[in-house]
Amino acid sequence: MMDLQRKIAILGATGSIGTQALDIARRYPERFRVVCLTARSSAEKLFDLVREFRPRVAALDVEPETLPEDVRFCEWVLGEDSSARALQISGADDALCAVVGIAGLSNVWAALSCCERVLLANKEALVAGGDLVMERARSLNRQLLPVDSEHSAIFQCLRAREGNPVRHLILTASGGALRDRTAEEVENASVEDVLRHPTWRMGAKITVDCATMLNKGLEVIEAHYLFGMDADKIRVVVHPESVVHSMVEFEDGAVLAQLGNPDMRGPIGYAMGFPGRLPYGGEPLSLADVGSLTFRKPDTERFPCLPMAYEALRAGANAPVVFNGANEVAVEAFLGRRVRFGEIARCVRAALEAVPQREIRSLEDVFLADREARAYAQTFLGGRA
Ligand code: NAD
Ligand code: MG
Repeated sequence: MMDLQRKIAILGATGSIGTQALDIARRYPERFRVVCLTARSSAEKLFDLVREFRPRVAALDVEPETLPEDVRFCEWVLGEDSSARALQISGADDALCAVVGIAGLSNVWAALSCCERVLLANKEALVAGGDLVMERARSLNRQLLPVDSEHSAIFQCLRAREGNPVRHLILTASGGALRDRTAEEVENASVEDVLRHPTWRMGAKITVDCATMLNKGLEVIEAHYLFGMDADKIRVVVHPESVVHSMVEFEDGAVLAQLGNPDMRGPIGYAMGFPGRLPYGGEPLSLADVGSLTFRKPDTERFPCLPMAYEALRAGANAPVVFNGANEVAVEAFLGRRVRFGEIARCVRAALEAVPQREIRSLEDVFLADREARAYAQTFLGGRA
């Protein structure tokens, strides 16, 4: 039996995932005691959350000018890597890792050492940390619960496998904001075009990743590590309605799917309440209103980042880290309006080709590969990075 009330840490509390998790915590005060809240720089937003949830410890990477009197009741950790340090003194049973980018890897690592369960939204940490993160979860006997909607769907479907082998994991993709644009429109898409996601409201970085479909690439790699499946057993299908969250195909051809409205509180709540299910007040799915569910093959010409992810996964070693690191630099440059949208894919491709292969044996190796990828991407993008 789970403790009646779990002590939970929300890392990246001011973001899209963090605030939706807090929505659920707010609905179930008897189930969740929020003991740790962290963010990078959104101090005012974090102060409000601290006032409401009254955690034991809170953290900001970027030091605020002042700490208001009424938030000083809790312990504050400020400066670089503050989330990981705060988590370690929080006494949390569960940590929701919802920081964006490889910046969150140190948190995931810390969460695995000090929490029973790690609720993982921060896919970049797993893509970069790969086998090291999975091995740490195994050796410390920690439960790693996926929050990404596709992985949550697969995790739920796999609970019905009854020991049977799996033929394929089938990830669904909305296709992102540029799904129906021509190659030329994709090349020159503006920040506004790209941030207008058809079905999901999310942070800026992942919304750009959806538009390049690199997000689906990160998710293929994430699925490989989480579920121990080879690249050729992981498929992607474009599904514009975002109602089927992903599927598992068994050897007899049976395909199990998990469905729901596109609302991240579904997978977030499932991870938070696991193995229980927590109603979160979302609209029930009405298939009659949805009408039809459609599926099509991804277009790898217009969206070359998806096949690149498979290449990186098959190459192994430092390639997934390089794939992720070069993308983080290019996305930031795009969001800063310094490079064209099409540059993102070219930058990632160039980094995969240029950065030499190196084995990954430790977390230091991961950070080194990430630094190499970033340095290369910066050179590739010239003064615009
Ligand atoms: P976001 O940009 O909305 O929020 C990010 C949060 O992390 C903010 O609270 C920010 O202050 C904090 N943060 C950023 N850098 C940090 C750092 N260096 N140290 C400490 N805190 C830092 O992002 P998001 O959309 O909530 O996404 C978070 C993660 O979840 C990403 O890895 C994303 O891929 C994944 N994810 C998000 C969604 C979604 O619906 N938003 C869905 C699936 C997966
Ligand atoms: Mg997803």
